[in-house]
Amino acid sequence: MKPFKLVSREYKKENTIVEIKSPSGSVLLGHGNCTIIAGPCAVENREDYLEISQFLKAAGAHALRGGLFKPRTSPYSFKGLGHAGLEIMQEAREITGLPLVTEIMDIRDIDILYESVDVLQVGSRNMQNFSLLEELGKTKKPVLLKRGLSATIEEWLLAAEYMLKAGNQNVILCERGIRTFEPYMRNTVDIAAVALVKELSHLPVIVDPSHATGKWKMVTPVARAAIAAGADGLMVEVHQEPDRALSDGKQSLTPENFLRLYEQVMQISTLNRSQ
Ligand code: PEP
Ligand code: MN
Repeated sequence: MKPFKLVSREYKKENTIVEIKSPSGSVLLGHGNCTIIAGPCAVENREDYLEISQFLKAAGAHALRGGLFKPRTSPYSFKGLGHAGLEIMQEAREITGLPLVTEIMDIRDIDILYESVDVLQVGSRNMQNFSLLEELGKTKKPVLLKRGLSATIEEWLLAAEYMLKAGNQNVILCERGIRTFEPYMRNTVDIAAVALVKELSHLPVIVDPSHATGKWKMVTPVARAAIAAGADGLMVEVHQEPDRALSDGKQSLTPENFLRLYEQVMQISTLNRSQ
């Protein structure tokens, strides 16, 4: 067998469908449709988050993202609202009925985040935080596992293996680009990894074209490529006014551009299904 076992196709032939529970029913990620998780990089304040959430719901998004604990390169950058932002996210869920996705950075936050959000995201920088993975593996909560900054596909799948081994099958893999010699874009997106990982593993795979490119103009083309390559969904950053975003404004779509992305990727997804 391969070094990763429980995540492999050899172990389980059928696709894993991750059920994300929410007040207005469940989102089934990996069920053959394109699941779109969207929202700002970080929750910045109540008014903006509720506004963008309602827009995203109306536009057809399936889940809301929003960072509360931001892993920033510089300790002087905006690091998120922390626990104080949880109520804002929950209010957005109440209003829209959409499930919530947020990043967990610290094992000490598992209990509170387990209770209050629907998908726990493990960011690139924590992909090999094995004690965090093991703790998340002891829960049944869906976990969105980003590919590490310079992780090989095997290392990424082995990180997922930690959670499956501990008992949690509800793992969503997220390709978000890797660091290469090319500085023009924030990262180099590995579209082939999507098709390959779908072969190697039964777990659903999504792509984050925002962190993958760092440039809003590249987000929609990469999103289209991701869905064409067989991704089960996308995670996209959207801000009502990217110029004043407290983090990642350069890669955030305006609401108008999100509508365009949505329409285009849904067409590709429909084409995929008719093949
Ligand atoms: C994020 O999605 O907010 C994020 C920080 O992404 P990554 O871990 O891929 O850099
Ligand atoms: Mn971001």
